[in-house]
Amino acid sequence: MFEIVFLGTSASAPSVHRGLTSQVVMHAEHRFLIDAGEGTQRQILKSGLGFKRLDRILVTHGHLDHILGIGGLLSTFVRWETMDEIEIVGGKAALERVRDLVFGVVLRGKYPDVDIRFRTIEGGPVYDEKDFTVSAFPVNHRAPGCYGFLFQEKARRPFLPQKAELLDIPPGPWRQDLVDGKVVTLPDGREVTPDQVLGEEKLGTKLVHVGDTGTVDDLYEVVRDADTLIIEATYLESEQDLAQRFGHLTAFQAATLARDAGVEHLILTHISRRYHEQELLEEARAVFPRVEVARDFDRFRVKRGELKKV
Ligand SMILES: [Zn+2]
Ligand SMILES: [Zn+2]
Repeated sequence: MFEIVFLGTSASAPSVHRGLTSQVVMHAEHRFLIDAGEGTQRQILKSGLGFKRLDRILVTHGHLDHILGIGGLLSTFVRWETMDEIEIVGGKAALERVRDLVFGVVLRGKYPDVDIRFRTIEGGPVYDEKDFTVSAFPVNHRAPGCYGFLFQEKARRPFLPQKAELLDIPPGPWRQDLVDGKVVTLPDGREVTPDQVLGEEKLGTKLVHVGDTGTVDDLYEVVRDADTLIIEATYLESEQDLAQRFGHLTAFQAATLARDAGVEHLILTHISRRYHEQELLEEARAVFPRVEVARDFDRFRVKRGELKKV
């Protein structure tokens, strides 16, 4: 299960109700901040999430509405010294701009105790944790090196307690070892294999986040069968020409992608001030019914085949 908290959902400039783009994806104790537009620090405080373990920042691209908040955040982190290291992950051009912001404006020759690491990606695996992976894939926006992020839980075989009872496996480390796929020898000398107590392999939750993008044709493969797709919808179809000119999507395009790629649930974000969210919702819903338009501080739980607002 993943959780996502939207910290900012506005496109290009903030509105009274929406801050600039930022969101946190969580899995157990792991946290990933995706983008940090201006004002993200305060949004984090208001959300109640706090700054703890926010030490991995994924950057979709280098436009200012997605990165300016990194300056403020790092300025605070460096002063508080509550973290040993921070890793900022993104494409080459985006990281060059973030680096200018951090070292040219925020730090200006100071060397903080916090280890600030920049990791340039070109697509492919980013993190491999015990229960899930994070990978990046290229998206087509107005800048070079723009990326989306795929969060995928690893497939696992559930432990079947009834079978364990029948085999009379005592409580202790043996059960965990079996879950981890190891053959165990019980205290009474019997050998038990994982196949004896584990069920059929179950696919894990798939969550895909796409930041700014102007095309969807290149996204079908990566979003296929996603449990939840989060994607921008900056325009309505009536202004499709503007969407195309500025490298953004319409709600209709986002919804069509979700429908045709077998996505379970769709969340639209990066909302322009020119529309009311109801208009976007209606346009998308006509194509794909299981859609939400994210608001600042919305929190969702993403499970296999299920999306729940909490
Ligand atoms: Zn943007
Ligand atoms: Zn952009």
